[in-house]
Amino acid sequence: MDIKTCLVWLEHEDVNKLDGFIQECQTNGVNVKIIEGFERFFNIDILSADFNLFSQYLLGLDIKFSETFIITDSLYPVKLSRGSGIKGILSVIKDDNTAAFACGADLACRFPGDISFDDVRCVFDFKPPLLDDAWESKKIDLQNRGNVKFNPKRFMNADMVFNSDKPVAFFFDYDGTLTPIVERPEWAKISADMRDKIKKISDRHKVAVVSGRMREDVERLLKIDNIFYAGSHGFDISGKNFSFILPQAKKLLPVIASITADLKDELAGIDGIIIEEKKFSVAIHYRLVDKQYFPVITEIVSKMVRSFEDLRMMRGKMVFEILPKFDWNKGKAVQSIMSKLGINWDDYNVVYFGDDTTDEDAFRVMSGRGFGFLVSPFEICSSAEFRLRSVDDAERLFEVILDNGRR
Ligand SMILES: [Mg+2]
Repeated sequence: MDIKTCLVWLEHEDVNKLDGFIQECQTNGVNVKIIEGFERFFNIDILSADFNLFSQYLLGLDIKFSETFIITDSLYPVKLSRGSGIKGILSVIKDDNTAAFACGADLACRFPGDISFDDVRCVFDFKPPLLDDAWESKKIDLQNRGNVKFNPKRFMNADMVFNSDKPVAFFFDYDGTLTPIVERPEWAKISADMRDKIKKISDRHKVAVVSGRMREDVERLLKIDNIFYAGSHGFDISGKNFSFILPQAKKLLPVIASITADLKDELAGIDGIIIEEKKFSVAIHYRLVDKQYFPVITEIVSKMVRSFEDLRMMRGKMVFEILPKFDWNKGKAVQSIMSKLGINWDDYNVVYFGDDTTDEDAFRVMSGRGFGFLVSPFEICSSAEFRLRSVDDAERLFEVILDNGRR
């Protein structure tokens, strides 16, 4: 996976000690940016900043969170970085690093001179092991090298996640995670057995479903009371005595309606294309379209998105999605639901199951604090901790969990 940006948020004298490392970054084509003046920028004390504010600041630096890592020497930046979804976090703290790991640092060392580029690369190149190979002991390709240590949570096996004294909080994606990917979105009906398992899990644990679909759509498909539903990648969340619509998203409803109409006109002639209206976004599914039209569709959609400055395009599995351009995603939705449900990283084992690129936003927020489960037949780089081959494998795991963790 590509590493594009290294952010450095250190005391001045320590930045100088990174000279060798910064040179290594530059040799590897990584852009180095020094963070200074974040508090001054917003005229706040760092203790009153939250990760949403930090994300906003980072967006001004024109970086992609999934391609960025940060080196920092205090706890608060670790917390802010993890909450905003930065891919890799390295903490340099002279004393004990336990607290930095609890805040979600991937790596920690005591002196800036300890850091090498290979350590950082390990975080980006990590491929989650299959759950079958990580139930009782997790053998992974992360080695504590020299003075740089990995977050101990990354070595926890699945048995420790589900059978500890801590309660488990569950977050699920829907398509491709609870139901297999199908040709048309309306065919993705959850099986009665899978639904029954999720229902039973929700009788014992806190559960939320976080989907790219419209919230009403997911609620209708699952029909389980007493759980949280986040639709449209988290713009629209509802649960018992709770409902939240991201105000910026609400404002853009007419813009989404307008681009949807334009897309329908422009793409009308292409056989097999499905335009899914999702209120806060619009999805263009091309799974059923003849391959020769792929470049044309890409061209039309990209061009159209560029003409709306408040919108952005996201790519999923054989789908383009157009949605409001601001920093909100499944990772932010998870944290918002956690705060509503009183779930914190220390007292709960928080687990997230997902299969697609949009789920990586949630996996990155989990990393070092909770546990991501990637549903994928392929061994790929991901911020998840474990991999399940298929929806069937996920269902088998849920059965094990309901059977009190016996395999
Ligand atoms: Mg999915």
